[in-house]
Amino acid sequence: RIAYVNGRYVPIAQAQVHIEDRGYQFADGVYEVVPLYRGRLIDEEPHLDRFDYSLGELEIARPMSRAALKLVLRELVRRNGLSDALLYFQATRGVAPRDHKFPARVKTAFVATIRRSRPPSAAAIEQGVSVITLPDIRWERCDIKSIGLLPNLLAKQKATMAGAFEAWLVEADGTISEGSSTNAWIVTADGKLVTRDAGAAILNGITRQRVIKLLENQGIAFEQRAFSREEALAAREAFLSSSSSFVLPITKIDGHAVGEGKPGPVTRRLRDVYVAAALETPVL
Ligand code: PLP
Repeated sequence: RIAYVNGRYVPIAQAQVHIEDRGYQFADGVYEVVPLYRGRLIDEEPHLDRFDYSLGELEIARPMSRAALKLVLRELVRRNGLSDALLYFQATRGVAPRDHKFPARVKTAFVATIRRSRPPSAAAIEQGVSVITLPDIRWERCDIKSIGLLPNLLAKQKATMAGAFEAWLVEADGTISEGSSTNAWIVTADGKLVTRDAGAAILNGITRQRVIKLLENQGIAFEQRAFSREEALAAREAFLSSSSSFVLPITKIDGHAVGEGKPGPVTRRLRDVYVAAALETPVL
């Protein structure tokens, strides 16, 4: 496997960063994950837009131009010979003696890797997955795709220990923000398709945004608003969205069956429509 590290392509075993990289010491950095699906980079531009947004919010200088970044991604795909993969890239504020203040003269550090994707199993797609709910203990800027992910890791680990695929995070007011690495959707008991509104409480998923576009194109009504755990437990359908899972049905929340306990028609349709749209992207 070949990685890209600060200007060079290197075998991943030889890829190294400085121990005083602020990403390593402070999680002072941001990242993106872009899916490569059957040779297609899915929603590359929106991912690059979000990367710019995250960098801007933290006042981290862009590591390179958008054109250069796109070249790096293509080169990684080519050198690793993959067609179904996840591209990961991160920028950190750079290398400087440890000090909380932003260093004066520092060069943004940038690394990128690619690995074969492990998409959800056929069973997960056909039968759905389970989630548990946990308190959302994250900070108030979840709109930034920060590499500081400890609360997300703790939640995912608890979910895994409980035999669940994902954790849905519940805020102090009882509303669900999102999953540990996915956005949350329900079809309510009275048939309304709902996902949390984009704001500081969630990462505005690129898959979420794509699903919203598809809903608009198809003329399917939906609401962007907070919904409670109780509303989710009473829902007819539930699903999650992310770059690695696309649209994935959820059939159990905290051990309670969602609807009839199998993926519902809205979820199945949206998954199909999402995959069809992804396949319309030109091959690299
Ligand atoms: N929410 C969080 C906290 C995430 O980390 C992610 C993706 O990693 C998502 C939502 C889904 O975003 P996307 O669809 O861009 O993968």
